[in-house]
Amino acid sequence: MSALDHSHSHALFARALELMPGGVNSPARAFGGVGGEPIVMARGEGQYLFDVDGQRYLDYIGSWGPMILGHAHPEVRAAVHAAVDRGTSFGAPTAAENELAELIIEAVPSVEKVRLVNSGTEATMSAIRLARGYTGRDRIIKFAGCYHGHVDSLLVAAGSAAATLGAPDSPGVTRGTTQDTLVLRYNDVEQLEATFAQHGATLAGVILEPVVGNMGLVKPSDAFLEALRRLTTKHGSLLIFDEVMTGFRVAFGGAQALFGLTPDLTTLGKIVGGGLPLAAYGGRREIMDQVLPAGKVFQAGTLSGNPIATAAGAATLKLLKSDPPYSRLEENSARLAAGLSAAAQAAGIPHQLQRVGSMLTLFFNDAPVTNWDTASKSNTARYGRFFWGLIERGVYFPCSQYEAMFVSDKHTREDIDQTIAAAREVLARL
Ligand SMILES: *Cc1c(COP(=O)(O)O)cnc(C)c1O
Repeated sequence: MSALDHSHSHALFARALELMPGGVNSPARAFGGVGGEPIVMARGEGQYLFDVDGQRYLDYIGSWGPMILGHAHPEVRAAVHAAVDRGTSFGAPTAAENELAELIIEAVPSVEKVRLVNSGTEATMSAIRLARGYTGRDRIIKFAGCYHGHVDSLLVAAGSAAATLGAPDSPGVTRGTTQDTLVLRYNDVEQLEATFAQHGATLAGVILEPVVGNMGLVKPSDAFLEALRRLTTKHGSLLIFDEVMTGFRVAFGGAQALFGLTPDLTTLGKIVGGGLPLAAYGGRREIMDQVLPAGKVFQAGTLSGNPIATAAGAATLKLLKSDPPYSRLEENSARLAAGLSAAAQAAGIPHQLQRVGSMLTLFFNDAPVTNWDTASKSNTARYGRFFWGLIERGVYFPCSQYEAMFVSDKHTREDIDQTIAAAREVLARL
């Protein structure tokens, strides 16, 4: 018996099911990984979400990453309001685009020039096209379990034992589109070496999440990072860091700043748009100057660099720069990680707590999770029961074992302790 009232939420979602496929505009929201029905939200404030039945949740999804400053931050809201009053879109250059581009270039080590787009998917799609255009080569390496948006040629994730030419993951994606995508195992240096030895001259680039959030939190090994940079340089392929999730999250300059390793191209999204639809790709000047109209690689967008989204992004980055939250986030996230791990330990539940900065995952798994082969052995049924137990206690974790959770700068030490106490109660009953 649930202590919560979901009657308004249920009615709205029942109607949504008739209006939209699966009742949602993005599948990650559909609760497929935990069972049951999504909760319809009414508003967010700071570290909280409020559902349409008036119940409050401590939010550890943060819109899947963007809300590092919490929901409805007053300064971000003010910047958005001011931008709206000046007009919502001009299709012409604005000063605000310079401001955001400068903030990005200053923060992210690999980015000398940047192009603003509307979604992370668009950023990775464009980065791949640019890598192919710049190198004159066709093949791309991606890693099983890494998500790069719903770009056709990257919708191949099947964790295969060997380097295989990709077979599409979705109906509607043709074999032709994915035949130049090689899918390898994350953290497998030997397989990467062998693939470069065999295909090096045909490889346009390697794309990866430098810290994976999209199979739950998985860290790259030092040897893996070293091999990626060494092999791409040696074979004239581009190293593409998909920092849509990690950019401005694991450090202000992203994972590349944290690891001190500079890729050739970087994709950004989520935080860079401050909760509005904005993303970006950038890199070395000489590569970016291949993009139209400076160069010949086509990429365009009616709403790219939109004034409202740009204002939200710039306001967010300025706040992150003037009052860096990263040491506070580290402290609270380490506390949360230790507490969750201890709670699982006390309940005798096999688990792995994996974390980088304010991104973390409690895997119900016997072995350390280093790639999709190990991640996919997690106990997802147990995760579903864990998730719903936390919801009952007013704590909103990711609705899938295979999504990282995020701590925001608004989460207090008391919030963290309350979350640990709730998890302890739930885990003791699993
Ligand atoms: C979210 C995400 C994307 C896709 O971004 P969208 O804005 O949802 O298209 C791409 N790459 C990574 C690493 C992501 O986390």
